[in-house]
Amino acid sequence: RPNPSLPLPDETATLDLGARLARVLRPGMTVWLVGDLGAGKTTLSRGLLRGLGFGGRVKSPTYTLVEIYPFSSFNLYHFDLYRFVDPEEWEEAGFREYFNPESICLVEWPEKGGAILPLPDLEVRLEMADAGRVARLRGGSEEGWRCIDEILL
Ligand code: ADP
Ligand code: MG
Repeated sequence: RPNPSLPLPDETATLDLGARLARVLRPGMTVWLVGDLGAGKTTLSRGLLRGLGFGGRVKSPTYTLVEIYPFSSFNLYHFDLYRFVDPEEWEEAGFREYFNPESICLVEWPEKGGAILPLPDLEVRLEMADAGRVARLRGGSEEGWRCIDEILL
């Protein structure tokens, strides 16, 4: 299947794509957020969390590897693997167990995680485009493609 792309002319458009993702993601899903520093990965995560009803501050998990957001029926784990180096630390911290049928996992810099990281249901690739960005969407599972179809409706 072709990978659809969406223009994101400004920050509001990135937040809005996050909010649209919030409506279609289900517990058990993993989303990879791929793109350079400043591409808008954390902004998209912020829009998604706000879309889920989270009213607090969304911090970049760059230094903590993960921020945890408990919702009533699932946890959302927001990873940033930019500084990830030690697979042993990953296992000891129990991060593998964060990827389970009751959680939603968002992962910035998934390419830094290598083979330890579960494959995604959905990948959002953010690229610079003129003053704004463009998002390219790729499904990694049937569920992921369903989300893309629903977002594009
Ligand atoms: P990343 O997490 O990928 O490093 P951030 O989400 O921290 O990037 O965003 C970096 C900057 O890009 C922020 O100042 C944000 O406002 C801006 N930004 C996000 N989306 C867009 C967009 N579609 N167009 C222009 N600027 C954007
Ligand atoms: Mg970030």
